[in-house]
Amino acid sequence: MTTEWMDKESKYYMFVVRRQPVVIARGEGTRVWDVEDKEYLDFTSGWAVNNVGHANSVVADAIAKQARTLLQTSNQFYTIPQLQLAEILVENSALDKVFFCNSGAEANEGAMKLARRYGAQKRNGAFEIVTALNSFHGRTMANVSATGQPHYQELFQPIPPGFSHVPFDDIEALKGAITDRTVAVMLEPVQAEGGVNIPSEGYLQNVRDFCDENELLLIFDEVQTGIGRLGTLFGYQSFGVEPDIMTLAKGLGGGVPIGAFMATDEAMAFQPGDHGSTFGGNALTCAAAYASTKFILDNDVVDNAATVGAYLGQGLNDLMSRYDFITEVRGMGCLWAMLFDSDITPAVVGACNDAGILLNPLRPNAVRLMPPLTVTKEEIDEALERLETGIKVATA
Ligand SMILES: *Cc1c(COP(=O)(O)O)cnc(C)c1O
Repeated sequence: MTTEWMDKESKYYMFVVRRQPVVIARGEGTRVWDVEDKEYLDFTSGWAVNNVGHANSVVADAIAKQARTLLQTSNQFYTIPQLQLAEILVENSALDKVFFCNSGAEANEGAMKLARRYGAQKRNGAFEIVTALNSFHGRTMANVSATGQPHYQELFQPIPPGFSHVPFDDIEALKGAITDRTVAVMLEPVQAEGGVNIPSEGYLQNVRDFCDENELLLIFDEVQTGIGRLGTLFGYQSFGVEPDIMTLAKGLGGGVPIGAFMATDEAMAFQPGDHGSTFGGNALTCAAAYASTKFILDNDVVDNAATVGAYLGQGLNDLMSRYDFITEVRGMGCLWAMLFDSDITPAVVGACNDAGILLNPLRPNAVRLMPPLTVTKEEIDEALERLETGIKVATA
């Protein structure tokens, strides 16, 4: 059965992502089952999306109820789920206003457009945005420019101008890159796709201070770090540094596609007509995101992500102490990377599939682990056993 679906994929689907040979049919909590009914612990979570677990019944009920009530109206009118979601996000963050869209890339596009309006109105037409090397901001044209990885840019020349890149975690490089055309600095608090790179103590605070001294907006791309992933509701809270603009997506909707960007009142430079979206803030996605976010807040899911995530980190470090070919383990909350001394990622991911744990291939020599934030200690124990089985087979 698996091969039949794989054949259909190669016949009909654009080949842009190398997939694992696993056809996932259903999920529940931290687990998924394939079409042959093999069970896996899912440490990919749909790329850090399924923060409340697969088939979460609270979210599923909210979606079903909303689908039978009202799906879509457009932003020509008010709808209740959108405003409930707006309230819960604003009241639980340091930002004052929100706009909803449909993906992380779209959230970043909105944030960058907002920064340009701010520059036009308050900074003499400044428009340039400084981002970090090894960042990942999405796949639209402006995000390809923003993303500080040449291999995403080379194929799509000419890419939109208005960006410059500096090494992450290097405050002096940032200071050297600012001109009078610079309006904003955009960073992931922890670089996720770029390798789970955690900034050194004080770096983000130094960036904040520098932005304040130079009237620059600080944009945090929290598409992956937001909504509990790092063990705080928003990643910026892990570092005690508040952004002027923040973007969200991945974990926001409990599995449905929704993105958001948020801004302080000071940074909210849009006038009516400056931005919009047909589907953005639609009643269905907002009802799902509201149910998911409320579930996270009501059930201390963020604390679970911190404590059970730390337990996962300990387990990974324990593996590293027992296997020489594991060279580094880094992460926080429920976002971890494990690095190897050679390019064994394909072998590790394949053997781990067989052993019943799904991993994300991050680099030829690194895998990423990002379980749902509702993962239990017992599931971590089981995952570590399966992971050890997988890496033993891969290196035998
Ligand atoms: C995934 C990701 C994006 C892009 O989100 P899409 O929903 O795929 O457009 C942007 N920024 C970060 C930090 C991400 O991890």
